[in-house]
Amino acid sequence: MNNKCVFCGNIHFTEKKVQYIYKNNTDFIIVNDVPCQVCSFCGEQYFQGKDLEIIEDLFVDIHNNKRQSRKKLEVPIEEFGDIFS
Ligand SMILES: [Zn+2]
Repeated sequence: MNNKCVFCGNIHFTEKKVQYIYKNNTDFIIVNDVPCQVCSFCGEQYFQGKDLEIIEDLFVDIHNNKRQSRKKLEVPIEEFGDIFS
């Protein structure tokens, strides 16, 4: 799908399945095992546009309660300025 990495110019990629975190303001979804091409030099990940559209549609459906996610994750959140207080 890519001929050349736009960040480093490398032309070698490996196919991988990775965790994709979709963020919209303060809402997230995490999708595991999303196929992508990874630049073998700098590690930049390239996804298919159609796969990102599927993830975006999934996000909308879950946040509009049209669909239930299979798993949920409780994530600790901290403000950086409060870490040492
Ligand atoms: Zn690269």
